[in-house]
Amino acid sequence: MKYRLQVLAVFFVLSSVAYGAQIKALIIDGRNNHQWKLTTPVLKKALEDTGLFTVDVATAEPGEEGLKNYRPKFSAYQVVIDNYTDYPKNEPWPAETQAAFVDYVRNGGGLVPIHAAASAFGGWKEFEEMVGLAGWGGRDEKTGPYVRFRDGQFVRDTQPGKAGHHGKQHAFQVTIRDPKHPITRGLPPVWMHTTDEFYDSLRGPANSLEVLATGYSDTAQGGTGENEPVLFTVRYGKGRVFQNVLGHGPENMKCVGFLVTYQRGAEWAATGRVTQKVPADFPTADKPSIRQ
Ligand code: ZN
Repeated sequence: MKYRLQVLAVFFVLSSVAYGAQIKALIIDGRNNHQWKLTTPVLKKALEDTGLFTVDVATAEPGEEGLKNYRPKFSAYQVVIDNYTDYPKNEPWPAETQAAFVDYVRNGGGLVPIHAAASAFGGWKEFEEMVGLAGWGGRDEKTGPYVRFRDGQFVRDTQPGKAGHHGKQHAFQVTIRDPKHPITRGLPPVWMHTTDEFYDSLRGPANSLEVLATGYSDTAQGGTGENEPVLFTVRYGKGRVFQNVLGHGPENMKCVGFLVTYQRGAEWAATGRVTQKVPADFPTADKPSIRQ
């Protein structure tokens, strides 16, 4: 009997190595002030391309009924890719869905809000806590500080003001501030992101927040003149959250820097580890890199 159990155990170990233990990912969408019908396929394919993920999509159907019946099975997944904003009416999810979402992350589920997704649900305290920093949605100094990198360190800036802003779309450098984190380990210390909408002036509780990378928000492009967070993590309960403020639309998502940090961030949010190698076509400090 004991021998048979050992054989069984060896079989399971071997089969998980042979077929790869797939990470179960769920993309949520259906409402967004961005082109979610075009970006969800990009986000899905990027995860599938790693060979590490199986990806389902939960789309909120249109109209009041569609929202009322929106009940993704968050707890069946290791990571939720959030491509949803409460557009156009700032309507909350049903209370049951909100509670299931909070439980999911608190109990160790991974969460990856993409670009505008974190700006949803202003005033929903648990959501604001788990995304760490966000813009718009009525957020201001009561939501929490701005977080900026100044003179070699991160500061929490509590000055009054609105949250969320961007200048003109342009290409800009992303600077890694923590090269030892699993998501950023091995990436070039500075890399050029392709033309994109660059968020600045995000605010939030910023608890258990770690900023992995910043970008300089150039006043010549309508920005703040500050080094603003671009990639960051939040711990919420046992859950891991990775936020990527890049990726306004499908064209901007072709940047290899966006794709790779998204793929690595999703693996980290799901498992706490990153097994993916940095690809040879990763952008350099001066040259963006695009995958068609
Ligand atoms: Zn945008």
